[in-house]
Amino acid sequence: MADCIFCKIVAKEMNSKIVYEDEKIMAIEDINPVAPVHILIIPKKHIASLDAVTDEDLELMGHIQLTASKLAKKLGLNQNGYRLVNNCGSWGGQTVFHIHYHLLGGRAFAWPPG
Ligand code: 5GP
Ligand code: ZN
Repeated sequence: MADCIFCKIVAKEMNSKIVYEDEKIMAIEDINPVAPVHILIIPKKHIASLDAVTDEDLELMGHIQLTASKLAKKLGLNQNGYRLVNNCGSWGGQTVFHIHYHLLGGRAFAWPPG
């Protein structure tokens, strides 16, 4: 997708710190971390938001969650807990319109978020 930052990162046309990669997804460090661990899990396929997923994406969405769990374990985040966040649409706080999940850890989080 032209002009999509995350498509450029996935295509390695833009630099990022890659934490994990396979044929379907990529996990990178967020450029502006809001927690000691702030990783973005991004599908390689361009999907604008959670609002745009279809039945075709069922396996991919499961793969993202399972990878988040595995990464959290690998990084030891599961000891105290962590947060997996998707921001959908403008009221959801989404700023990059290529679906992604924030894996946040290394500190406690409040609920509900502001
Ligand atoms: P959203 O607000 O859409 O849920 O989250 C977008 C996230 O992408 C933000 O946390 C922001 O810091 C991150 N981000 C935006 N541009 C870049 C970039 O070029 N590289 C990386 N690694 N993260 C980015
Ligand atoms: Zn994209």
